[in-house]
Amino acid sequence: MRDQPFSELTRTTGTFVFAGQHEHRVVVSPVDGEHLQWVPWGKQASVRQAIAECQKGLRVKKSIRQRAEMLQRIAEQLILNRQELARIINAENGKPIEEAVSEVDYAIGFFRFYGEHVSVLSDRRLRAQPRGHEWTIRYRPAGIAGLIVPWNFPLAMLAKKLSAAIAGGTPCVLKPAEQTPLTSLALMHLLEKAAVPNAWVRWVLGDANMVGKLLCRHSAVRYISFTGSTRVGRILLQQTTERCKRLTLELGGNAPLIVCADANLERVVEHVMLNKFRCAGQTCVCINRIYAHRSIVAELSARLVAQVTTAGLVVPCGDWESKDSPRMGPLINRAGYAKVARHIEDAVAGGGRLVLGGVPLQTPGQDFGCFFPPTIVVDVDENALCTREETFGPFLPIISFEKDRQALSWANRTEFGLAAYVFSSSEARARKLISRLQFGHVGLNSATGPTPEAPFGGIKQSGFGREGGRDGLFEFVESQVIARDRHIPMS
Ligand code: ADP
Repeated sequence: MRDQPFSELTRTTGTFVFAGQHEHRVVVSPVDGEHLQWVPWGKQASVRQAIAECQKGLRVKKSIRQRAEMLQRIAEQLILNRQELARIINAENGKPIEEAVSEVDYAIGFFRFYGEHVSVLSDRRLRAQPRGHEWTIRYRPAGIAGLIVPWNFPLAMLAKKLSAAIAGGTPCVLKPAEQTPLTSLALMHLLEKAAVPNAWVRWVLGDANMVGKLLCRHSAVRYISFTGSTRVGRILLQQTTERCKRLTLELGGNAPLIVCADANLERVVEHVMLNKFRCAGQTCVCINRIYAHRSIVAELSARLVAQVTTAGLVVPCGDWESKDSPRMGPLINRAGYAKVARHIEDAVAGGGRLVLGGVPLQTPGQDFGCFFPPTIVVDVDENALCTREETFGPFLPIISFEKDRQALSWANRTEFGLAAYVFSSSEARARKLISRLQFGHVGLNSATGPTPEAPFGGIKQSGFGREGGRDGLFEFVESQVIARDRHIPMS
């Protein structure tokens, strides 16, 4: 088993995979516990060596044009291997194939977009000549970057960061989540095929605490880009203070959806379906709580129940491979399952009415097969646990409101500020709500998540820094300004 890769693309050897002494860990399918593949589990020396390799990468310079071409070559490799990458994501994350394919497409978008826009990192000169000087602004690699990513989008979260790093010519040590390292291994082989310079990337895996600490404390690593929990974000913040490192933190969310009395309910349901059940509700932009005007709660919940039932999403488990297999994957593990169950139980105990799904009678005894049915509870109390914590599962609590300002204040009453959604047919009403929402990403009559072309990130305890869009390019570089006195002749 140890010598047998899951896919030709998930071999554990290759230029970008760390070498040296290591142990092995097995990657397990969250669907049925099948052992997918053994992967190397490094020690401190492996991480140090990876950083040392990347230090060499800082000396490898590529022009803007070369970087643009490189990014396009990577995108082409991803396109060529689209189905195989989706198969790997499906196996280790559990999300259905069609969802995995759209994740691959999303990842391709980042390499494409940055391939087209890397020229914004070209040197530029100020038109005006303040102080009688000539001013040139250069964007240089920020130093080695450490990339730490979660398991819910094993390819896309990495693609966001890696595409911007490559655009900036910034070498990086990357650490996938321990649950989903295979997709990132596949990406390493595709980078090789796309002729990414040898010392620009190193893949490491090992104890997350140890890897994180080393990346934070090593003087050559100047920047950490992290997507994951607020808990770990805070640890990284503390660990990087001493050396004043730059950080981009994309942390937890607790996305509210405000449905005004004048909203088009058909469209609301359509968007909830697209947003909420992706990755079984385990994405940071998933709607976590619905605030619906009292006058439309009954109709909205009836429409949602009907739509979820028609979509076949209520099948909680069963033969994954069979034709009737569920359209939604399992939760990643028992801890995730227990949290969703706790939120539902709390909502019902607080007076909520269960209208669909519910906590299954049998809780899973192991970290796989944690299927959870889509669950809807109406008349949830505005102080329920799910309004304060991110559920990360297919549970939709519906809370009624009377006045818009009540919904607004409840929506903002969270320590998080990542994504929020508003549905209304009144431009003025929606504008007013949006201008007061404390979230980095807002959907208007839409519950769409981020796109490669626009910056994405949170405020408050959802983190800081932006990924995607032109803004995302500047996270991986530092500007150096050269103020030159032209009056002094030079040879
Ligand atoms: P989740 O709870 O969704 O798994 P985490 O924040 O724990 O989210 O994990 C996201 C990523 O952070 C994973 O790659 C994980 O291995 C990594 N991680 C976990 N703990 C630490 C840590 N102390 N330092 C650095 N990275 C960590």
